[in-house]
Amino acid sequence: MKNTNEMELVFDSRSCNEGFARVTVAAFMTQLNPTLEEVSDVKTAVSEAVTNAIIHGYENEVHKIRITCAIEQKTLRIEVEDNGKGIENIKRAMEPLFTTKPELERSGMGFAFMEAFMDKIEVVSEPDKGTKVLMEKTIGKGRETWSTQSL
Ligand code: ATP
Ligand code: MG
Repeated sequence: MKNTNEMELVFDSRSCNEGFARVTVAAFMTQLNPTLEEVSDVKTAVSEAVTNAIIHGYENEVHKIRITCAIEQKTLRIEVEDNGKGIENIKRAMEPLFTTKPELERSGMGFAFMEAFMDKIEVVSEPDKGTKVLMEKTIGKGRETWSTQSL
């Protein structure tokens, strides 16, 4: 038997679903007993990735976004995937303040927030195929309890 706990969520790329996606991942991670700050970090990262899929990946056309989550021990892994227009230069896209939509008053900080709030982020993307953002966060780092430690 595999020792992960997994879930998958597929939904339409409508901005009204962004809150739904964020809260669903937050609910899934409660089994790790996260702090409010850890939940808030993950919600922010999920929001940024989903918003990117909606406005950049699908450019506001309605298609499916897929989120998969896996918990293994204390680590939460999240993938946010679209089959939209993809990213030509991933390295440049991930630079803080880089945006291809300055006219929409985007600040180019989405990937920077995902990097700041999660332990790891990786972006896999191909033009006209889509984008997958993989993120990881270990919950409870630095606050292992005495009772666990002394066992
Ligand atoms: P902000 O997130 O601050 O509103 P932004 O979305 O432009 O602005 P990032 O989230 O950092 O900034 O993304 C940087 C750039 O990467 C985007 O402008 C876009 O060109 C590209 N990008 C990000 N996600 C996707 C995606 N899912 N599909 C296609 N392009 C994307
Ligand atoms: Mg963004």
